[in-house]
Amino acid sequence: MPWYRGVADNRRPAKFRIAARVPVAIPLDAAEEELWAELDARTPQFLDLWHSIRDSGAELPAVPKPPVTLVDLCRELAYRMLAHCNFCRYDCRVDRTKGGHFGTCKLGADSRVSTYFHHLGEELVYRGRSGSGTIFFTSCNMRCAFCQNGDISTDKDNGRPMDPRTLATMAWLLRVEGCHNINWVGGEVTIHLHTILHAISLLEGLRPTEEDLRNALPGKADYYVRFGLDMAQASCQGAFNAPMLWNSNFFMSAEAMKLLRILMDVWLPDFKFGPERCAPLLSKTPFYWETVTENLRLIHDWGEDFTIRHLVMPNHVECCTLPVLQWVAENMPDAPVNIMDQYHPDTFCDPASPKFSPKYRDLARRASRDEILRSFRYGKELGIRFESLSYEKNSTGLRL
Ligand code: SF4
Repeated sequence: MPWYRGVADNRRPAKFRIAARVPVAIPLDAAEEELWAELDARTPQFLDLWHSIRDSGAELPAVPKPPVTLVDLCRELAYRMLAHCNFCRYDCRVDRTKGGHFGTCKLGADSRVSTYFHHLGEELVYRGRSGSGTIFFTSCNMRCAFCQNGDISTDKDNGRPMDPRTLATMAWLLRVEGCHNINWVGGEVTIHLHTILHAISLLEGLRPTEEDLRNALPGKADYYVRFGLDMAQASCQGAFNAPMLWNSNFFMSAEAMKLLRILMDVWLPDFKFGPERCAPLLSKTPFYWETVTENLRLIHDWGEDFTIRHLVMPNHVECCTLPVLQWVAENMPDAPVNIMDQYHPDTFCDPASPKFSPKYRDLARRASRDEILRSFRYGKELGIRFESLSYEKNSTGLRL
């Protein structure tokens, strides 16, 4: 993942800083369709600049920052989408700025953050030595009965409402404390697209005040650890720098993907279910397979850096794990995959929980030794790149 590593090590400026050098020619109060046309027109210019910086190490252009930039345009488009919400594939078309009518995620305009910290549990490539700067948002657009983060995904009132400046301060703090990336995660992040893009648009020029830091500190799970602040580990070519990591269920709309293409340096998509009935039955999510495979195809075709995560679930190896791995092998055999073995019964699948529903009895145990080894063996037969990711942190210690 050369682009991600280049940004993480501050040898390259993050995409949000490159997009901030691309001028936008129309006012941001133009009609939404004109804004989308402008995005389509400016994206090739952005990509040319990104490729020249990525491939030949070119510096950011030494020109004054344009008055309105591609980053501003992405932020504005996210707010326009919020008023007829099509952030994700549900395409609810509700006006989340007004409240009253809610979509599947049941959210209005507020975004809530549950917690944030240096995450030492992500894959080695992301957690490194100092952790992945992970910001956990509340609520989700999917309804996975087995959710491994059910405390925040099923409780939309968890955490506290977050304004973009405080959110940007959290990201700034994590990076200046040494985190290797800013890891936007949930619940699900797509449903908070407007707040996150707004925060990213503030990052380059952000100089947090004491009040900003006071606002940001509640919710920082590791606030008691003295990390020290070092701008040198958070800057490239004279300004704040950090790779943006999109850690998502990938049930996103095509429009959301277009905006994120401009701003994300690396992607961490889940690929949970096979093409049969498991997605509607276990997560009440229609169109799952076609949506997620289409979005995976996009980031692969775009030449993005990414890692696919697949969680092996009990009794779902034949219907989910095998077709997922087969799809990867047929469509992007070079993609790194983490075949995860740490499934535990949770949320509605945990027999010890009052929320347990007997209809999920099949998911009320850990994956067996045979199921995990069968998954690894199939990955190996297919020639998938999974071993270094899957073995270094597996909780069962199983490997071929
Ligand atoms: S984020 Fe998705 S689920 Fe929520 S209102 Fe928008 S389209 Fe619907």
